[in-house]
Amino acid sequence: MSSASSLKPSVLIVEDEAALVELLSYNLEKNGFRTSIARDGEEAILAIAETKPDLVLLDWMLPYVSGIEICRRLRRDPETRELPIILLTARGEEGDRIRGLDSGADDYIVKPFSPSELIARVKAVIRRARPIFDKDALSYADIVMDLASHRVSRGDQSIKLGPTEFRLLRFLLERPGRVFEREQLLDHVWGQDADIEPRTVDVHIRRLRMAINLPGSPNVIRTVRSAGYALEVETDH
Ligand code: CA
Repeated sequence: MSSASSLKPSVLIVEDEAALVELLSYNLEKNGFRTSIARDGEEAILAIAETKPDLVLLDWMLPYVSGIEICRRLRRDPETRELPIILLTARGEEGDRIRGLDSGADDYIVKPFSPSELIARVKAVIRRARPIFDKDALSYADIVMDLASHRVSRGDQSIKLGPTEFRLLRFLLERPGRVFEREQLLDHVWGQDADIEPRTVDVHIRRLRMAINLPGSPNVIRTVRSAGYALEVETDH
């Protein structure tokens, strides 16, 4: 089952020390985050491609390849250039701190740290990167999605959506105007492990349009020929 649709931000913990992994995942989950775990750099790179976390907590001291080196690699790759990264380390020297931030990390936490400090830093970095997680509602044109109650409305009309159409609309509302290929929508809305044909996306887009394009209101999901779909009010010209 993919959890790509969950409203909780996800954190990938990259750490080889089991006790610390447990402490980190316990505290993050208690504070409303989803977590996944990688024990070295190779695992981390694979996990990032598969699960697309919202933030990576990356230990400096890892087997084979250091956290610093992994951080540099992630920054060189256009896919992960913007991925929020917090480096974890036992080192606290000023030189190391600077080296850590030079490698492209967004923040730096020195071990030992308090759980409340950890949570505060994680929240701050995610908020900077994805302001969306701060919101209670998403909206575009006259469409409003209440994230707490899962209610959707257009104008003063309430809209009923199936779970897949809800996730699809939510994904598009977070990124209005951007064009997504079917494969990208499959990865983000259904999850990369989902064994579904790209054509399925068309079926759900059609259902979503039928639900939200009320009589007399303009189509808000634009078909971009040979590319995909975008949330955008369609005009006649
Ligand atoms: Ca370690």
